[in-house]
Amino acid sequence: MRVAVIGVQGDVEEHVIAVKKTLKKLGIDGEVVATRRAGVVSESDAVIIPGGESTTISKLIFSDGIADEIIELAESGKPVMGTCAGLILLSKYGDEQVIKTDTRLLGLLNVRVKRNAFGRQRESFQVELDVKHIGRFDAVFIRAPAIVEVGKNVEVLARFEEYVVAAQENNILGLAFHPELTDDTRIHEYFLRLNEF
Ligand code: GLN
Repeated sequence: MRVAVIGVQGDVEEHVIAVKKTLKKLGIDGEVVATRRAGVVSESDAVIIPGGESTTISKLIFSDGIADEIIELAESGKPVMGTCAGLILLSKYGDEQVIKTDTRLLGLLNVRVKRNAFGRQRESFQVELDVKHIGRFDAVFIRAPAIVEVGKNVEVLARFEEYVVAAQENNILGLAFHPELTDDTRIHEYFLRLNEF
């Protein structure tokens, strides 16, 4: 199994390490490749879009064909996960900040996302969440977005305050927090198994 991590910008290495650990734990013979060019995602069995700056990641993936490859991979039923800025990119709809910055989204997860939903006062925080299919999970939020509307066929996996912070639509998984920043690999394990769609 080959897992691609979009390595344009953001917490790429942390996801690479988390995937390596997860493959080992699951006994899967596989490799993980961080990529910032076209041609790698199309040769992979799963893809992760990390956190970072959604405006920057969007520009880069749409300018060099990576975006089309992610969409194709998603449509073929392979697992696609976006964390934090990656969640923004997976979403179908954005808030006024996304619109104002002309951030193009992949539209793979039928939700509306709000950038920087938790405000300036709480730039980053950690909280234990109840995540469906996983259980209690220590979630790290960093200038996190949140889901404010959930469309048909989208399963809510976790809520925090008035927001949805984890959601799944078949093989597409979007998280407002950063599972790669804790030692717990359960979310990565769940993600790598999402290939029966
Ligand atoms: N605030 C960032 C954005 O809107 C996301 C933050 C993150 O990915 N840690 O792009």
